[in-house]
Amino acid sequence: MNEYDSLIIRNMLQKEGFLLTDSPEKADIVIINGCVVREKPENKEIELLKYYKHRGKFVIAAGCLAQKDKDALLAFSDLVIGPMDYDDIGTLIGKHGAFTDYSKHRDRFYRYAKDRMEVSFSEYVTIMTGCDNFCSYCVVPFTRGREKSRSAKDILEEVENLTKRGTIEITLIGQNVNSYFHEGVDFKDLLDKVARLGVRRIRFTTSHPRDISPAVFDVMARYENIMPWLHLPLQTGSTRLLKEMRRGYTTEEYLYIVNTARKMVPDIVISTDIMVAYPTETEEDFEDTLRIVKEVQFDYAYMFIYSPRKPSSAYYRYKTQIPRDIAVKRHRLLVDTVQRIVTEKRKKMIGRTYEIMIDGHSKKNPDLSRGKTRGNITVVVNKNIPEGEILEVKIVDVIGATPVGEPI
Ligand code: SF4
Repeated sequence: MNEYDSLIIRNMLQKEGFLLTDSPEKADIVIINGCVVREKPENKEIELLKYYKHRGKFVIAAGCLAQKDKDALLAFSDLVIGPMDYDDIGTLIGKHGAFTDYSKHRDRFYRYAKDRMEVSFSEYVTIMTGCDNFCSYCVVPFTRGREKSRSAKDILEEVENLTKRGTIEITLIGQNVNSYFHEGVDFKDLLDKVARLGVRRIRFTTSHPRDISPAVFDVMARYENIMPWLHLPLQTGSTRLLKEMRRGYTTEEYLYIVNTARKMVPDIVISTDIMVAYPTETEEDFEDTLRIVKEVQFDYAYMFIYSPRKPSSAYYRYKTQIPRDIAVKRHRLLVDTVQRIVTEKRKKMIGRTYEIMIDGHSKKNPDLSRGKTRGNITVVVNKNIPEGEILEVKIVDVIGATPVGEPI
């Protein structure tokens, strides 16, 4: 979401006559559009703001970072602009103050989004912002505000414009895409409408296990251009902790959704987010998480250690945290378990053929290309192929957990 917002801000400012530089050192204005979901990146963003302010730049703290701690940020930022105030960013430059009214709508921002100057083969399109769920550990409802769905007409226009200009992959994004609703159009309807526009590859993220319905899987199964990939955050395999976290589903319900998706959407790839060491997590709770991980056999997972985030309710509710050494040990065990599962699953890809879209170079060897399968699994290809090209590859090897493919 931040990547998309940064791209549109860049476009807005360029259209208003500002020039881009290839390095912040050369710039007069530096914007840090920061995420605060985790503590570590937030601290890094604050360091960057201080660093560029110290070097005499006009410094703007933007995004969730701005919304979370505007008063503290004003001590070392010229401007603090929340995610719903980007409409005015051009006119605010040069002023000093905090602009963080998240009840606003981003009309101008979305107009720029529809008509963006830079267009790539793969683009994000925001369909909704904010969240009404208030999961106990999360700051999003406080930084992005309540849920706001964008009009389907607006979204479809943006998708159409992008495809006319060469985009072949669209990812519909929002904090909780499944709760999209605007003037009678829900998420399954919107997905159906986007698919009919004929975009070559369509993805969406992030889904919420409580809000996704089999009707979405039905649409996914009907359209060849909706990619068979579902990112479905689990968070924990303990139903007791899911309740503490206010997630709104049990582990049994989560398993039911996964099984339904697998029955309805052929070859669907399922990824997830899991946290360990949420306050009060016992060994039994953690064992439940390992059990669900083994049962679901995720295709990949983002795993992290809980960190208290102000002003989430968990930040105020729990006076003690899981000791760091236990948290690290559980995280290590979880990562090892997931990696074993993922490696086994990747090995089963050997000998099979996959359609991939090239999206860059291999991180380890720039002479090799890297692409994503329809299920969003990264494959390295033994050849230098331009970005945006779609080709069939046969998987010939797996290095670590990365499949290696040869073009057919
Ligand atoms: S659904 Fe996601 S964005 Fe919304 S409060 Fe929960 S974790 Fe945060």
